[in-house]
Amino acid sequence: MSTCQLEPCIELPLSEEKLKESVDKAKDWALMHGISMRSKTNFNKDQVQLLPVTLLPSSFPKNPFLTVKNVQTILNELIHKVAHDKEFLTSSLKSTIQADPFTAKLFHIYETVYEKDLSQSISLGLLRSDYLLHDDDCKIKQVEINTVATSFAALATITSEYHKYILEELGYRKKACEQIPENNALIGFCKGLIFAWELYNNSEAIILFIVEDITYNISDQRFHEFQIRQLCPKIKIIRKSLTNLVSEGVKLGPNKELIVSNMVVAVVYYRSGYELEAYPTEKEWDMRLLIERSRAIKCPSVQYHLAGTKKVQQSLAQPSVLKKFLKDDASVARVQEIFTGLYTLDFNDDGEKAVEMGINEPYKFVLKPQREGGGNNVYNESIKTWLSSMKESQERTAWILMDRLYPPLQKNYFLRAAEESPLENDINLSDVITELGIYGVIVGDSNEIMLNKQVGHILRTKLSSEDEGGIVAGVGALDSPYLI
Ligand code: ADP
Ligand code: MG
Ligand code: MG
Repeated sequence: MSTCQLEPCIELPLSEEKLKESVDKAKDWALMHGISMRSKTNFNKDQVQLLPVTLLPSSFPKNPFLTVKNVQTILNELIHKVAHDKEFLTSSLKSTIQADPFTAKLFHIYETVYEKDLSQSISLGLLRSDYLLHDDDCKIKQVEINTVATSFAALATITSEYHKYILEELGYRKKACEQIPENNALIGFCKGLIFAWELYNNSEAIILFIVEDITYNISDQRFHEFQIRQLCPKIKIIRKSLTNLVSEGVKLGPNKELIVSNMVVAVVYYRSGYELEAYPTEKEWDMRLLIERSRAIKCPSVQYHLAGTKKVQQSLAQPSVLKKFLKDDASVARVQEIFTGLYTLDFNDDGEKAVEMGINEPYKFVLKPQREGGGNNVYNESIKTWLSSMKESQERTAWILMDRLYPPLQKNYFLRAAEESPLENDINLSDVITELGIYGVIVGDSNEIMLNKQVGHILRTKLSSEDEGGIVAGVGALDSPYLI
């Protein structure tokens, strides 16, 4: 039985009349302020449609919210230090790269560049650490930390404003002002990009966004571009996929400058490149390597990318590992507090034990590969099937096992574009669970951290019946925390 009850921000359900009026206003506000994406079923560059969003802000307890906000700069530093510890990265990923070709490719780039060919020592990290509340006393626990193509800093910022508007419209001005916290994630990320651009110290140089061949989550990406233009008008931004760069014959200049369409690139910002689809041929991998060898500042550099893998997360959760990276015991304790159990599946005693645990009690765990972007994990009875079938095979070392978190339920209304939910003309009050994300920015090299900030937050909400909730995939919805 849950000891964690979350009261809704206002009395529910709304009357039919109030609901209809609020939904109409909410959809228009959201669309007109950019809570939108391109349609997957009917892609058209002249149109965007509503990105799934909750009508109301979901409740979130204030103390755990502040706990993880305040720990973010320590996590930023932790990722930075891990990324600069070759021995730790190598030993953590050793077994994984034998089984997982994607991580092996990244690792190969890392080794190639960092042994012989490093021309840019500074990395830019735009990070997001994600959390679920766990039923047991509402403790907050880290799900993962993202170091590559971290999304929704822009739309999360807008969603906080959207929920203030909705509560005000419903007559709750005081709650809107006091219980929906300020959110500056977009400006925070853009200032990080500009900070890196300034470090490059060439006023003619541009920022290159590496994007998918087709971008659905266009609004979130473009808002970064528009915000940078506002904050620093002289920076030019271009968008290319790795495949575009291959066909354009990108080269390095005499001082290893990355040159695209005759322009020098100061900062490369990956909004793609974490997924297999970004590398349809070896040529895209060659391009990733070329970029890594260049003098451009990468967000993320390949070592930041590797530091964000699930396998590294699992290595960090082992006893006394944090002590190696964090200077004081208090910081170690704060980070330890938000970790949950993570287990290796390597061929050793611990790995054998984890395989047995997963097979015997699959509902207590989540089985995770080294992938990003949602939809890759294994849950419930399937954990048994998967673990049994890979028990004797190297394949299992590409995965980790994690304690399953069971977050408390609450109620909310989901709004979606009609096209995504043709049968859903009536908006129903649903049982939902929420995942909090905290955004962090870090810039530095192996000697020095030059910028380290916590910059904002996001809440992502899904139906309680779903194991996972990708927003662009249409299963989850953007949300913002209502602090209680
Ligand atoms: P990705 O990098 O693909 O986003 P995540 O580790 O965030 O991978 O997992 C995807 C989703 O799976 C999360 O957003 C969350 O909904 C669910 N999930 C992941 N880990 C757990 C866990 N330990 N307990 C419960 N749900 C989890
Ligand atoms: Mg992730
Ligand atoms: Mg995730």
